Amino acid sequence: MKDLQELLKELEPHHATLVAVSKTHPPEKIMELYNAGQRDFGENRVQEMIDKYEQMPRDIRWHLIGHLQTNKVKYITSWVHLIHSVDSFKVLKEVDKRAASDERVVDCLLQFKIAEEDTKYGFEPEEAYEMLRSEAFKEMKNIRITGVMGMATFTEDMEQVRREFRQLKSIFQHLKDNFFAGQDSFREISMGMSDDYQIALEEGSTMVRVGSLLFGERVY
Ligand SMILES: *Cc1c(COP(=O)(O)O)cnc(C)c1O
Repeated sequence: MKDLQELLKELEPHHATLVAVSKTHPPEKIMELYNAGQRDFGENRVQEMIDKYEQMPRDIRWHLIGHLQTNKVKYITSWVHLIHSVDSFKVLKEVDKRAASDERVVDCLLQFKIAEEDTKYGFEPEEAYEMLRSEAFKEMKNIRITGVMGMATFTEDMEQVRREFRQLKSIFQHLKDNFFAGQDSFREISMGMSDDYQIALEEGSTMVRVGSLLFGERVY
């Protein structure tokens, strides 16, 4: 495990944000980090995030990092800070619609499949480009795409992990140049977890999602 301040010191030269991944951990444990100054917390399950949001201090910035089902969108759009896991046009349209009823603009990252292993969720690059070119996308007023997210393959092969992070960085750059030129708000590359955040930082991560290194192993 690693001390919060120590981890923050490692992120500082990279100007990267720490999202403390608190899934499975109770509010008391989250409050220890909160009391040490941490405000960005990540959850991968909607119901768990809602429960914690309801019982915890209101100045916590909640990040959804796991798959979002369309039917759950309406429960989070009025307060979620950032959705890292937008993985289809369908879910993005629902976020836009629900955010409009909440009179909010919700920040979202597009999740890309970068892992070699067969992962279920995430855009293929071409699929995202097609979405971004569409009229339906351009008409959405209540979402703002602020960057990209990806998860590397679960492997000991750190060179493979590095290649996958480079791939995400290059998708980010392509999107920036072709779809978000001149938009300073398009700036986030959410990559890196407990085992690979140092590599992610070297490859340009602006947001690391770290759980077990801060909280200890998860017990399900
Ligand atoms: C659980 C999770 C993390 C954090 O994983 P650790 O290995 O505990 O740091 C990061 N990102 C996502 C999407 C997760 O589901």
